[in-house]
Amino acid sequence: MQTTSKKFTLESLVRKNIRALKPYSSARDEFTGAAEVFLDANENPYPSPFNRYPDPLQQNVKERLAVLKKVSPENIFLGNGSDEAIDLVIRAFCEPRQDSILITDPTYGMYAVCAGVNDVTVQRVSLTPDFDLNLDAIAEQINATTKVIFLCSPNNPTGNLLSRNKIEKLIEQFRGLVVLDEAYMDFASGQSFVERLSDYPNLVVLQTFSKAWGLAGLRLGIAYAADDIISVLNKIKYPYNINIQTQELVLKALEKAEIKNRWVEEILKQREILRSELANLRITEKIYPSDANFILVKIKNAHRVYRYLMDRKIIVRDRSRVTLCENCLRITVGTPDENNRLLLALKEL
Ligand SMILES: *Cc1c(COP(=O)(O)O)cnc(C)c1O
Repeated sequence: MQTTSKKFTLESLVRKNIRALKPYSSARDEFTGAAEVFLDANENPYPSPFNRYPDPLQQNVKERLAVLKKVSPENIFLGNGSDEAIDLVIRAFCEPRQDSILITDPTYGMYAVCAGVNDVTVQRVSLTPDFDLNLDAIAEQINATTKVIFLCSPNNPTGNLLSRNKIEKLIEQFRGLVVLDEAYMDFASGQSFVERLSDYPNLVVLQTFSKAWGLAGLRLGIAYAADDIISVLNKIKYPYNINIQTQELVLKALEKAEIKNRWVEEILKQREILRSELANLRITEKIYPSDANFILVKIKNAHRVYRYLMDRKIIVRDRSRVTLCENCLRITVGTPDENNRLLLALKEL
């Protein structure tokens, strides 16, 4: 593995054209203070809740999040879902047809999709049979083209946290960026790496409002990282990537974090009920441990069961053709009623 014998410098990782880029700038970027007359952006002057452009840097949301997560607003990037942050990291740091990202299979599909769109090679390393990082195999794959490693913990679709000390080793020893996707961290027993940001200049932690916060329809994802990484992402994002309504509604949700916490508690309770009920089914072969709001289950003839459930208007995720997930379905924990409908259908199979 390429080790950090040299001090980590972000500058050398950023693509040349991005380093040289002069970002889009609006008149409102050039003005500080409280303006009163807005004749700069060709907006419609007549009142409507949305006649003005939104705050391009979402300061209000970031200030609130910064308090909640004990970081500075300069360590926060907000995107149109985490998917925007995934795409921007690849676009900022990986030269098309030259550089690579490394992912650990099985994992979330968007890393490879975004790399593909950007014509960036995907290096794949399988997780161990118990779904943990194989550091030796990763070290073997890494070469001079590897710019970003994507890790997902708790991992989708397997549901488990990756070993904390292995994640730390990888961040410490890898010369490029490590993106750690914590979309499911609210459901996990472990601690977030957001708390470790100041130790790691090459770490990007992704979180989202799409899962525990119950706001998938609003599209808001977060990247936490050192301020120079955040500056690069801000430089290349669309100027008004988060709309006014999303900013307002997320601010409201943040005021009521206890609602999110109650949902999480309930979902965790339901997860354990679902687990034990699934374990009683004849077709169940293995239930994998979960630190997320879904359960990976190995069952007989998974693909056929998947089709059968669809006929009963119940949709789960068929992962039976995915590396290490043969005959596995990924089942999201629903309401008690939804979970019971699933269990009833499976019993009647
Ligand atoms: C659901 C999910 C996300 C969330 O993506 P958004 O674009 O924020 O909705 C991110 N990463 C993983 C691993 C996920 O499963």
